[in-house]
Parts: sequence; C-alpha cells; structure tokens
Amino acid sequence: MANEVTYQLYIRLRRPCRIRAGRLPGHRLPAGWYVYTGSARRNLAARVERHLRRDKPRRWHIDWLLTRREARVVHVRLSARPECLENAAVGGRVLIPGFGASDCRAACGSHLRYLGTDRPTAVPEESLRRRHPGLRALHTALATGD
Ligand SMILES: [Zn+2]
Repeated sequence: MANEVTYQLYIRLRRPCRIRAGRLPGHRLPAGWYVYTGSARRNLAARVERHLRRDKPRRWHIDWLLTRREARVVHVRLSARPECLENAAVGGRVLIPGFGASDCRAACGSHLRYLGTDRPTAVPEESLRRRHPGLRALHTALATGD
C-alpha cells in the first residue's frame, strides 16, 4: 500500500463570503488566510490539481470554498506526518465546525483553519504576484519532497 501523504493548501480569500458546504450550515468567512489539510494515499498530484481547478462538480466541503472566485490557493505544502497532526500544528481558528473533518478521528473540529489577515510565514511573498501560484507550489513540493 502506498504511503499516505498529507497536503496543506494555503488559501487566500480576497473578500468575505458566505458559504454553505454540503450539508453544513451556512457560515460567513472573513477575508484573509486559510489552511486546508487533507491527505491522499495515491494520485496525490491529481488530487491537489483538482483542488486548484475552479471549474468542477462540488463534492467535498472544500470544493464549496475553492470554486469561489474570491478564493485562491497560493501555496501547497506536503508532509509525511499524519494529517491531523499537521492540522493541529497549524493552529488558527475553526470557523466552520465539521468542515473537511468527516473522516477525522482526532477531534480536530475542522480541517479548515483561519489564520487571520497577515500572510503566513510558510507562504513565499513572491507567490502573491504569480499566476497560478498553487500549481507552481505543487510542482515545487513534489520535486523537493518537502
Ligand atoms: Zn483531524
């Protein structure tokens, strides 16, 4: 069996927006930075590339955020540690209880965390000026294994 890889999407939300993800109640999300933590056992690149596409059927909670024009994946980080550990290490605030946490057994509360309005240190400043920065970040992460 392939090793599970944890991925973290650093998402910038340019404007506040209200989202209702799947069967979760609607929530208003403030503008700023979010981190979404997930994992894949196989087809990691395809999974993350799907997250980076705006045009897609909405299936997972995160799809309701990432299909919004206001939201953009600016950075991608990969890790060999379990997703719930990485999610906890992010800190931040839970704004939508249960978001992305249907399979979570670690009581994370949410696999989407709000970090506030300052650019997180994990996100390179130059990526803010790039087109498709998330795609570039994914390829960099896959190449370096970090
Ligand atoms: Zn978890």
